[in-house]
Amino acid sequence: DPVLAIVGRPNVGKSTLVNRILGRREAVVEDTPGVTRDRVSYPATWNGRNFTLVDTGGWVHDAKGIHARVADQAGIAADMADAVLFVVDSNVGATATDEAVVRMLRRKKKPVILVANKVDDMVQEADASALWSLGFGQPYPVSALHGRGTADMLDAAMEVLPEYSAHGGLARTGGPRRVALLGRPNVGKSSLLNKLAGSERVVVDPLAGTTRDPVDEIIELGGRTWLFVDPAGIRRRVHMQQGADFYASLRTQSALDKAEVAVVLLAVDEVLSEQDVRILQMAIDSGRALVLAFNKWDLLDEDRRRYLEREIEQDLAHVDWAPRVNLSARTGWHKDRLVPALDKALESWDKRIPTGRLNAFLGELVAAHPHPVRGGKQPRILFGTQASSRPPKFVLFTSGFLDPGYRRFITRRLRETFGFEGTPIEISMRVRE
Ligand code: GDP
Repeated sequence: DPVLAIVGRPNVGKSTLVNRILGRREAVVEDTPGVTRDRVSYPATWNGRNFTLVDTGGWVHDAKGIHARVADQAGIAADMADAVLFVVDSNVGATATDEAVVRMLRRKKKPVILVANKVDDMVQEADASALWSLGFGQPYPVSALHGRGTADMLDAAMEVLPEYSAHGGLARTGGPRRVALLGRPNVGKSSLLNKLAGSERVVVDPLAGTTRDPVDEIIELGGRTWLFVDPAGIRRRVHMQQGADFYASLRTQSALDKAEVAVVLLAVDEVLSEQDVRILQMAIDSGRALVLAFNKWDLLDEDRRRYLEREIEQDLAHVDWAPRVNLSARTGWHKDRLVPALDKALESWDKRIPTGRLNAFLGELVAAHPHPVRGGKQPRILFGTQASSRPPKFVLFTSGFLDPGYRRFITRRLRETFGFEGTPIEISMRVRE
């Protein structure tokens, strides 16, 4: 679904507006500067259209002051969103903080609906008109408290929201988790699928409420259903002379696009081939959760196993974050270990670290291991936030560029501390002067 973010400085009535849009009557929680509240997304509907409403949060007090923080938050929200509701208090008018948000939103080049809140009656509409000066066109006068004007505002938002989101993580659609089983020909994909499905039976009829491609296959594993995408690509052996690699890559990519987690199958009786490496890289780049499975262990004796384990350790050092399962599709050895690995990878992929916890972690880390001084300067990490999950993406605000080595160090500690096994994570930096 497309993402609509709601931004604005504390006390303009964002939470009231969120409750109004969602049609709820809950206790109104307003932002208090200095209090960390998290960014929350809610499924919302207007005139039959579904969208995700993202409420920004995570206000943190520091030397930079509230203006910069509010603008930063608005910037992150705009990055994640397809359109932005920018809420201003029409009784107060545009403040310096609002101006800082305006400058930030301009840079993002996303559609902005300017909302003049607290317009409870006709008389106050004049105040709203003054907000034309912010340069986002017509301000929509609303009363979040009483509901006045919110329908027009939402109509305007629906007009600028695209049908599909181009941002944020992959939406969770419900239904079975979607798995792409990938690997070069003859690595044992089809054997593994048969072994997995064989013992527990393939569920043939479609599950109620699940939309799925007819070529996808639902398999029960560990007492739950899983959707394996494109098993035809696995089962049907397509022999092509020319361009076979090209079509195989297309098929791999389209399976990854549909999946939430990839199982890359490698065989231990052969060294890592060029094709293995390519498939693995595609899985890593896809941003999906990842499990590595090593097939054909029945072919190896003890000595050879130990040797190969060392070998694998070296070749796959760059994906040491993915859970590994050694198994045999032929004998069924360790096939039960696949589900716990999938669960772990998906849990990491879905995970969201609250802003308060993340900043406590960053504070301790930086205090214990400050960034090295470079040319008389020492860049500091001012503030961090997890911008999205599926896969997890983090944004760090810093006072200067961080060394690549230091960035890797932070990434590693982030993984260890919060347990991001089985998911790629992305960290981006915003340097503030
Ligand atoms: P796919 O092309 O990846 O689907 O591979 P297949 O499942 O068709 O397997 C290719 C070959 O490897 C077949 O001859 C299988 O019998 C064999 N094979 C698959 N898994 C194992 C295994 O765990 N051990 C052994 N020894 N052979 C296997």
